[in-house]
Order: sequence, then structure tokens, then C-alpha cells
Amino acid sequence: MALHLVSSGQYLTIAQLSRSAVRLFTPDAGPHERFVASGLCAVTGIIAAVLQSQGAVAAMWFFIAASYLLGGSRATLEAISALRTWRPDINVLMILAAVVSAITLHWDEGAILLFLFSLSDALERFAIERTRRGISSLMNLRPEKACLVRDDRELHVPLAEIRADDVVRVRPGERFPVDGVVLDGESAVDESIVTGESAPVEKQPGSKILAGTINANGSLLVRVSRPASESTLARIVRLVEEAQERRVTAQRVIERWQSPYVLTVLVVSIGTMLLGMLISGDIMSSIHRGMVLLVAASPCAVVLASPVAVLATVTHAARSGVLFKGGSHIERLATVSSFAFDKTGTLTRGRPVVRAVSAQNGNHDELLAVAAALEHRSEHPVARAITAAAAARGLSLPEIELFSSEPGFGVWGRMSNHWVGVGQVRLFQQHGIELPQELIRAARESADGTKVLVMRSDGLAGTIDVADEVRREAKQAIEQLRAAGITGLTMLTGDHAAPAERIAATVGITDVRSGLTPADKLTAIMTLAKSNGGVAMVGDGVNDAPALAAATVGIAMGGGGGADVALETADVVLMREDLCGISRALSLARRCRSTIQQSLLFAFGMIFLLVLLTMLGWLSLPFAVIGHEGSTVAVVLYGLRLLADSRKQVSAETQRG
Ligand code: ADP
Ligand code: MG
Repeated sequence: MALHLVSSGQYLTIAQLSRSAVRLFTPDAGPHERFVASGLCAVTGIIAAVLQSQGAVAAMWFFIAASYLLGGSRATLEAISALRTWRPDINVLMILAAVVSAITLHWDEGAILLFLFSLSDALERFAIERTRRGISSLMNLRPEKACLVRDDRELHVPLAEIRADDVVRVRPGERFPVDGVVLDGESAVDESIVTGESAPVEKQPGSKILAGTINANGSLLVRVSRPASESTLARIVRLVEEAQERRVTAQRVIERWQSPYVLTVLVVSIGTMLLGMLISGDIMSSIHRGMVLLVAASPCAVVLASPVAVLATVTHAARSGVLFKGGSHIERLATVSSFAFDKTGTLTRGRPVVRAVSAQNGNHDELLAVAAALEHRSEHPVARAITAAAAARGLSLPEIELFSSEPGFGVWGRMSNHWVGVGQVRLFQQHGIELPQELIRAARESADGTKVLVMRSDGLAGTIDVADEVRREAKQAIEQLRAAGITGLTMLTGDHAAPAERIAATVGITDVRSGLTPADKLTAIMTLAKSNGGVAMVGDGVNDAPALAAATVGIAMGGGGGADVALETADVVLMREDLCGISRALSLARRCRSTIQQSLLFAFGMIFLLVLLTMLGWLSLPFAVIGHEGSTVAVVLYGLRLLADSRKQVSAETQRG
């Protein structure tokens, strides 16, 4: 807020004022300057009209010139640069219409045209800039300095000097400057800026902290995980900015056709003009008719329909915890007819706990310590559970000499010259290790959670029971998708059939495919992607990354849990640990698509109507201009309504499908 006042205060300095005055006439003009220019254009135009009725001819021409200059100089510069690259655009049409109006002594109509054109242009610019600012202002919320703790002393240093593994102190009420992990202290943290979720989250030692979130009541010591420029917040802002740059197909098509269309309009208008002259011999009214046609057929509203809607949707979604990495993903998500889910970490919370350890030789602690020694190096949720259990029992872990992770299978390595593996039956089969039959049976039949097998080549063998909770909202999220008309709901998991079936039944998925390797998941997704509309894959792990990339739309669970590769490969990231974000994303995408379709229909309909009226000779230039600019503004406002937080409407649409 303070920053804002300072910057608006600066507008009062003479230098700023004169710079703004010059910018009134250039394409660099910001929304405010554009509004000022179009306002002045209207005022000078009205003065000129009054002077005309008074017969003050010289003064009248002065104000006409001023009005044209204010309303048209920026568009003229833009038209010239468009013509230089042989890509005539709307600016060319408008300037031509205004100039010809003035030449044929309809200067007042030209002034109205320039005024309305510059006004709608200022409105668009204002709307777009506002949505953009909504995102970049997130970055300003990060403090400039951090309180670095080193050798028991506290120093305030600029953010850029903070490195990974530094320790910073954050006091109550302060925003966290960086991403990190709590070392000491407890507090409630408001994470709404990143996740959109307003309820505070409790943090203890070991909890993850995100830059930009607010520390409510405790004083925390935080170990920095990455430099400020790479924080999650910085990445979100970058992604959303990139998303706004990338164009959706509808927009690309329109951009490709804009110049040919504009050329056609020019040719047809000139043709109408010449034809009119030949038939009626009335040069002035023929030229006028041609100009009206030119304005009526201008595609301003068509060009704006999709960028405005996409921009508004990306911004709205980001605010409610759904990150679209590009406008094209919105478009594709809107058409998807089936969803595939990973199990562990996606439908389940991904925070499994060890329920039981059973070694065949009875030495359960040794088995757990051996497993934990390997899992220590893995990022898999099961691995975290096993390491935590070993730590809780205070076990010291044996040294390992070799480590390898096989996503979807497990992990294996070497210790004191013995091969050792922790994972699924398949892991051992692949390495030609003979497992005791009763272990295989136990793993396959375990319906209550997952049985992880442990086997060392000296004969040490056993199982570790790991249970994970199904996410509270999983069932509701699946129901919402079904209500939204999604028919294909599939679970793809690397786990055994029995635990997979049980979880699928709990959340309401009937199509279960278990025992899949990451490659099997990929094949399954490629088959599903061929279905009508394609498939969206929801996943969180390293093992899901290929499937996320191959899906029509890849959706990653971001909020804290997801593996970095999953976040990188996905097209959409759910920032909140909330599966209902999926149906929210879906309904936002559908709303965006239908808004674009309706806007295009309206825009083309308007052009058709205006052209028809012109052909019939029922439309004069001022009304053509009003119809044309009015439809442009209507399209912009219609697209911008997607920005509004219409949670009720969204859920209503999800219900309706
Ligand atoms: P999901 O597809 O359900 O996310 P994964 O493909 O990651 O599951 O893993 C499939 C199965 O492989 C798990 O249920 C587990 O039994 C085993 N597994 C995978 N990675 C590990 C690991 N690091 N440690 C132990 N078991 C593992
Ligand atoms: Mg997973």
C-alpha cells in the first residue's frame, strides 16, 4: 500500500507529467494515458462541433486536428508498423476510415470513431494489465530482507545473499522470505497466498515453509531449502506469466487469419465504393458507404475473445490454488472425457506409516534397520514411512555400498557384500531373487495396506506393513467429476491388486489397473488418450512422470507432496492438497471454453448484422462505430467476468455438468 502511494505521488512531479504527456501519443502508453488521450479526444471533438455551429472556422480546425491527434496518433503508429511487416491489422482499418471520413468532410464521424476506438483500446489495456498485476503483485509480498542467524548472531541481509542451508529467523506477523524447513519453534502459518486456502496450517520442526506465506503467532528458525529466486512463489509467478504469453489454438488461428481478413475487408470496401460510384455516380456517398462497411466488418471483438478469457481464467485459477502452465491446457482440459488417477500420494495422502514389521528370523528391528538404510536415499512415500519408523525406534542403520532406485518396483543395493532389496514382488523377480513362497502370498493377499518385501541374499527376509490413509475428500472429488459428466474414471497403480481394489472401492472407482510399472502406466494412458476427448492423468510421483507427459492433460499434486519431476512434467499443478481442485480446474476450463465460443459467436454475429445493415444502406458511420466498439467492449467484459470468484456458480455448473 505504502509503495502504491509513493508511486502515485511520483506522478505529480513535472518530469513524470511531461513523460506521461508524450506517452499519450505512443504505443507504449499505459492504460491511464490511453484513458486520458481518449477523454481529451472526446472533449476536443465536442469543442470543435460547438465552434462549427458558431462559425469559428479557424478555431474549429484547430480542435479537429487536436481531436484526431489525441485519438489517432497511437493507432497510426501501430498501423504503420503493421504495414511495414505486410500484416495489416485493425489499426489500419480504423485509421483509414477516420482519414477518409475527414477527407469527405464527415470529420465529426471520424472523431467519434477515433474516440470510441481509443476508449475501447484503453479499456482492454486496463483490463489486461489489472489481471497481470494480480499475479506479479504476489512477488511484492515477499520481504526484501531476511534475518540471517549465524554463530548465534542475527543479521539483516538482502534476500539475494541468502543461500540454501542458511538459517533464518521469522517472527510472528512476518512473511517468510524463502522456502525452507522449520528447525525450531511452532506456529500457525497463513498459506493462502500460495494455496488459496485461508485456514492457517500448523507448523512444527520438520514442516515445509513457503516463501510469501505469513507466520501468525510463533517465532521460527527456518533452514533455507533454495535461494529466493527459485522459491515456489517465484516459480508460480514465472509459470503464470509464461502461461499468459502462450496462446491457445483459437487465438493462433485468429492471428493467422487477421491479415488476410483485413485485406479482404479493404478490397470489398473499396470494391463497394467503386461499384457505388459506377452505378449511382454519387462519389461522396459511395465513399461513405465503403467506410461504413470497413468499420462494420472490423474483427476487433473476434481478436480479443480468447486472450481475455484465457488470461482471466489463468489468473482466477492461480488464486484458487490451481496452476495452469499454459492457455492451451485450459482448452484441452475442457474437452477431456476421462480421468486416470495414481493411487499412492494422489488418492491416498502419501504419508503412509509403518504398522508392523515381521522378520522370518524374528529379529524385526534388524530387518527394519536394513530396509531403512536403503530407503534413506529414496524419495518415495513408502521410503519416508520406513525411515521414520526406524528413527522412531532409535535404530542405527548399517552402511550400504551401492544404491539404486527403480520407480514403481522398489529399491535395491549392496551391503557387506550382500545384495539387498526392498519393494514389490516384481523387484525380486526382475533380479532373479528367489523369494520364500509365503512372503509372496502374504504380499499378494494383503488387503489392508501395502506389504513391502525385504530380502537380503544371506537369507534375511520379511515384510513391512505400510498403511496410507485415503484422502478425506477423494470420494467427493470423484463424485464431482462424475457429476460433471466424466464417464471414464480409472486407477493406475504399481501396487498389488488387493490393496488397490480396496482403495478404489472406498473412493468409488471401478476400473482398477494394478501392478503397473511406469512404462505400463504410460501405455495405459496412451490407449486412454485415444478415446474421445482424451484423458487427464493425475499423479504425484517420479513413477507417474511419463504418464503425466503422455496424457492429454497432466495434473500433478503440488501442495508439499509431489516429486519435482512430476511438477515439471505436468500441465496443471494443484497447489493445495485438495483433490476437489480437479473439478474446480475442470469447470473453470469449461467455463473459459464456452465463454470463448459464445464471444466468437456474438462477435461474428455482430459483424454479419452490421455488414448486412450497411449493404441495405440502413447504417450510418456513427452507428457502425458504436455497434463495432460496443461489441468489442462487451466481449472484453464478458471474458473478464471469469476473473470474479464465482464459487457458487462454479459448483452449480459442476453439478449440472
Ligand atoms: P503408485 O503407482 O500407487 O503410486 P508406485 O508405482 O510408486 O505406486 O509403487 C508401486 C509399488 O512399488 C508400491 O506400492 C510399493 O510396494 C513398491 N515400491 C515402489 N517404490 C518403493 C520404495 N522406494 N520402497 C519400497 N517399495 C516401493
Ligand atoms: Mg504415486
